[in-house]
Amino acid sequence: MMEQYIEIKANNPGSLLFYRMGDFYELFFEDAVDASRALGITLTKRGQHLGQDIPMCGVPVHAADDYLQKLISLGFRVAVCEQVEDPAEAKKRGSKSVVRRDVVRLVTPGTITEEKLLSPSESNYLMALARIRGGSGAVMALAWIDISTGVFRLAETEPSRLLADILRIDPRELIVADTLFHDLELKPAFDVLGRVVVPQPAVLFDSATAETRIARYYNVGTLDGFGSFSRAEHAAAAAAVAYVEKTQIAERPPLGRPERESAASTLFIDPATRANLELTRTLAGDRNGSLLKAIDRTVTGGGARLLAERLMSPLTDAEAIGQRLDSIGFLMSEPSLCSDLRDALKHVPDMPRALSRLALDRGGPRDLGAIRYGLGAAAQVARFLGERLLPEELQQALAGLAALPAGLEAWLGGMLAEELPLLKRDGGFLAKGANPELDEVRALRDESRRVIAGLQLQYAEETGIKSLKIKHNNVLGYFIEVTAGNAGTMTDTPEAKARFIHRQTMASAMRFTTTELADLESRIANAADRALTIELAAFDEMVKAVVGEAERIKAGARALAVIDVGAGLALLAEEQNYCRPVVDASTMFAISGGRHPVVEQALRRQSANPFVANNCDLSPKHGEALGAIWLLTGPNMGGKSTFLRQNALIAILAQMGSFVPAASAHIGVVDRLFSRVGASDDLARGRSTFMVEMVETAAILNQATERSLVILDEIGRGTATFDGLSIAWAAVEHLHEINRCRGLFATHFHELTVLSEKLSRLSNATMRVKEWHGDVIFLHEVGPGAADRSYGIQVARLAGLPASVVARARDVLTKLEDADRKNPASQLIDDLPLFQVAVRREEQKRAGPSKVEEALKDLALDDMTPREALDALYDLKKQL
Ligand code: ADP
Repeated sequence: MMEQYIEIKANNPGSLLFYRMGDFYELFFEDAVDASRALGITLTKRGQHLGQDIPMCGVPVHAADDYLQKLISLGFRVAVCEQVEDPAEAKKRGSKSVVRRDVVRLVTPGTITEEKLLSPSESNYLMALARIRGGSGAVMALAWIDISTGVFRLAETEPSRLLADILRIDPRELIVADTLFHDLELKPAFDVLGRVVVPQPAVLFDSATAETRIARYYNVGTLDGFGSFSRAEHAAAAAAVAYVEKTQIAERPPLGRPERESAASTLFIDPATRANLELTRTLAGDRNGSLLKAIDRTVTGGGARLLAERLMSPLTDAEAIGQRLDSIGFLMSEPSLCSDLRDALKHVPDMPRALSRLALDRGGPRDLGAIRYGLGAAAQVARFLGERLLPEELQQALAGLAALPAGLEAWLGGMLAEELPLLKRDGGFLAKGANPELDEVRALRDESRRVIAGLQLQYAEETGIKSLKIKHNNVLGYFIEVTAGNAGTMTDTPEAKARFIHRQTMASAMRFTTTELADLESRIANAADRALTIELAAFDEMVKAVVGEAERIKAGARALAVIDVGAGLALLAEEQNYCRPVVDASTMFAISGGRHPVVEQALRRQSANPFVANNCDLSPKHGEALGAIWLLTGPNMGGKSTFLRQNALIAILAQMGSFVPAASAHIGVVDRLFSRVGASDDLARGRSTFMVEMVETAAILNQATERSLVILDEIGRGTATFDGLSIAWAAVEHLHEINRCRGLFATHFHELTVLSEKLSRLSNATMRVKEWHGDVIFLHEVGPGAADRSYGIQVARLAGLPASVVARARDVLTKLEDADRKNPASQLIDDLPLFQVAVRREEQKRAGPSKVEEALKDLALDDMTPREALDALYDLKKQL
């Protein structure tokens, strides 16, 4: 057996081997040491190998999911090795023969399907990255698959947005060719992703055979019907599919056809922005406190996943956004319909995941139940929506529900019992009436139980032992048990001795059987066997019927998710008083009465102070095309960050197709959203706060377009004042003159506010405060103009700095402010040319002296007559 183990283990490097022995999965050697530590289970030993004890630990098969979950979450991968023949077969080969075993599945984070291992509200993506080198440089593509739901998508990408694209999809596992894994260009991205990245043999990514391999998976001759994909996309898709085959071994999960996503159709959010804005997780990694948590009112797993997907990939097509908004508007106008729908949806089980498990032969009776109840709920939802004039998106959803296989639910309903066991091998999941033979066998079994009760009574009377019992266990089957004291009476006559056959002597009891009991026993066992055979056959039949309808069931489940998201967002809008944003192709950005969706809800829960709504208007001035930039000043704690973030979040919410926390909002579609907010130290990677800030700022200045929205919070504060001020100054000019985007720029450097005199699209705004008896009161109101001071000392006092320090700081400040009047920074605006002028001059300087300048230099003025001088002047003029 150890030989077999070692061979299988050698074929599956990099995974813990779960080696099936009876009711346990056993682990040996290093695996046992690692697993016992990770799982907190006892390490024992079994036999010896090369003169050393073999460490061993094991987990019971019935509880394996729990242990798998823990191991997977700790980053382990597990190869599950099962017995693949009946032990009787092995015996036939010889008494010492070992039962044949094989790895039937590799459990990896990106390829799990078990309910316990998956989070209901999150997709579980396996992603593949492929790079193809062609004539015009390298092309990269991503393919991602959720085998628990069958979703399969593709997109091209490029180095500058690779990480952003990966984080948008947030895969559990990213496979790359081992040749790519060490690529220097991609290494920084892989470093950020850490353990998620798994190198795989490069053949998986071979683009020459990619199409054929994908076609083989789908069992089609050609991929022509799937749409047109690039070579890189084919390579990525083929790798993902190959990895699914490699991990699932004998099974083929039913994947949907690959759908292409284009980069232009989604709002690009760079990785830092995604993290800083705490879209799905806070910076500390919690789901609580994220935007997703604050807006999620869905009641189904599928709805929650779709909502997260929409939030991670907002749209840029105003019409598509409008369709989503129409659904919400409609559902808000029909509150009773909305609540009926939500009630019906509450009963919708996770159909796509149940379906995948059934297709992978990993499903149980409850998965069939999930399909049954899911179809039932879908029919009810369809009835609620029927006969109404629906907006486009809901109309399509209704069509998806209408296409669900009619009759399947009723048939499953007739077949399945109300209470379903977890495992099919436990039996008892077929309803009464589902199968006449089963009903007969069950009647026999129930009858036998009555016969046994009768026998017990009869034996007790015959022997006169009142306490005589007929019991059952797995070793002996049915037996008669009497106390040790009564045992003598059982066999006191020869007839009795022949009748009651001794089976076992216990400390306090003695056990017997009779021929009648043994007969009955075998009848019951046969009946149970027969019943299970019938049930298993029916199970297979049901699975076949369900899997045969996989496409329609998945489409129906998707429709339910769409309705759930719409109804959830409608409820949110109602409850939180959100408005429908106007989203179009302009460069408007006009929010009135805007609020921060997360802070607002937190304040409502925690404090008596309501959130102060604020306006933000970055719309182009009359007749112009370009949007504006606001320079926001104000004291610490004034609410600058909150204001910046809320406007970015409102843009995201609007473009994902949600109502927004504002009184009104008009947003011209944003193509890219950038933010540089908060100080997210990256010390682990050896970068100081300032370095991180500069790296992120560089990305923004290099990438923002005229359609982008840029949020910058306190650029340049991580360094010496003049350095910081200079960088902030140049960054504002660059945004205004070169990027020409819409933006919000919060700063401590009041010196910057003079820029509004020169930059036509720059306006000053400030967080209003009141001073009262030397204290500062934050009004959290944004108004026009510039803050005249920082109130840093007042804030420090609020924070409890010793009074003596506060007083001393006041003295120092007064002195500094006096000196500041002569500060060169205050004259910058008069002395410095604007960014573009400066850039042009700089360029000219680099280009060297012009021809005219050269010619001028060569003129010997002292040797010229006035006539010659005049001619030279004409010549020069001609050269201009
Ligand atoms: P700053 O960036 O100016 O230092 P923050 O945005 O961090 O200030 O806000 C400081 C605190 O003020 C936050 O804890 C927040 O709860 C509160 N706050 C900010 N904006 C508002 C608002 N509009 N209404 C109510 N409270 C607010």
